[in-house]
Amino acid sequence: MTTRFWCEQAWLPEGPTDAVGIDVDGDVITAVTLGAPRRGTVLPGLTLPGAVNRHSHAFHRALRGHPAEGRGSFWAWREAMYRVAAVLDPDGYRRLATAVYAEMALAGFTTVTEFHYLHRDPAGRPYADPNAMGHALVEAARCAGLRLLLLDTCYLAGGFGVAPDGVQQRFADTDVDAWATRSQALTTHDDGTRTRVGAAVHSVRAVPAAALPAVAAWAERDARALHVHLSEQPAENDACLAAHGVTPTALLDGAGCLGPRTTAVHATHLTAGDVTALARAGAHACLCPTTERDLGDGIGPAGQLADAGVSLCLGSDGQTVIDPFEEMRALEMHERLRDRVRGRFTARELIVAGTDGAALAPGGPADLVTVDTGSVRTAGARPLGVPLSASAADVRHVVVAGRTVVRDGVHHHVERPAARLAEEITALLDHRGAP
Ligand SMILES: [Zn+2]
Repeated sequence: MTTRFWCEQAWLPEGPTDAVGIDVDGDVITAVTLGAPRRGTVLPGLTLPGAVNRHSHAFHRALRGHPAEGRGSFWAWREAMYRVAAVLDPDGYRRLATAVYAEMALAGFTTVTEFHYLHRDPAGRPYADPNAMGHALVEAARCAGLRLLLLDTCYLAGGFGVAPDGVQQRFADTDVDAWATRSQALTTHDDGTRTRVGAAVHSVRAVPAAALPAVAAWAERDARALHVHLSEQPAENDACLAAHGVTPTALLDGAGCLGPRTTAVHATHLTAGDVTALARAGAHACLCPTTERDLGDGIGPAGQLADAGVSLCLGSDGQTVIDPFEEMRALEMHERLRDRVRGRFTARELIVAGTDGAALAPGGPADLVTVDTGSVRTAGARPLGVPLSASAADVRHVVVAGRTVVRDGVHHHVERPAARLAEEITALLDHRGAP
């Protein structure tokens, strides 16, 4: 059955255009009509392709607004994150992730890519169903109305030659074959439209080099996505060089982990050779600018990667901020801060990164996000300037796979998402002990 949406303005591949009719059948756009009469579901404002969140850890949302005392580093933050990870259970994770994904929908994300590594129970034993935590995430995305790419993450070591310790045992599988068996069982959630399972290598720290080819082969067999945290911290590069004599990128390349379905997450501290290797493989790079600045990671070489032909996408990662416009803007602004030059990325290029190349065109996903162009933030901006002026608070309507999820700024399926976030996070932190 075809549904018609009428957009006051729509961000088409050729640019923002007035009075556009978008016909949708199932989860796909079937027709785009210029100069369309005002009929069907009216979307006042500027309608963009749905934002794609290419890197998320839902439970990290609990850490937002709980700043550590004094100075710290990524590694100190990781200890705080581990304390939250230690107490989640499948029911609690489903409730928390539902509220987090509802926040994402309200912000204009229509797809979430969950880099899922919290597999086992708090004692480090497999649940009766070893995918209980993965099922919770699938259910959360369904409740919140988002498309989900669930990356089942391989995590076998606590560092180079180091066994998982403490809460890391919740992340681990016995060996790479056990990981593959568990991941395969999760693929029953594949439905061809809203849910897809992929693979992830947590990092070269957490997956021994000998196990990398098996993860790549599992992903390759059914053309699944393969993501990996890559060179987020110089310490990872140093440890990899000490253990293997090569950079993390070179190690992954040699193990067959780089290809057109590979996404390197962060890719912050790369050599020129690393950039070339990613480009040669046709790999993607997912930058998470608001997280990278929150954690003091550094500024990734977005311009160099783009110049080399690596396609860029964006993720909310640690959930310090859930706002696709802020991530898009930060891609450009961080380049400006580092290079003291403005305009490395055009507004169109920022939208391409923020939507992972989705377009309002026949055959494109029926994922629409409508922004208020008359808010105090967007008023007076040219439509082409909306990526540089709008925020998550300006998102009014969200359609995912042809179905309305947010209308007039209200989530259709999840009631009181802010109260739910507060309840779940308070319960989690009380359980964990005072921060
Ligand atoms: Zn991450």
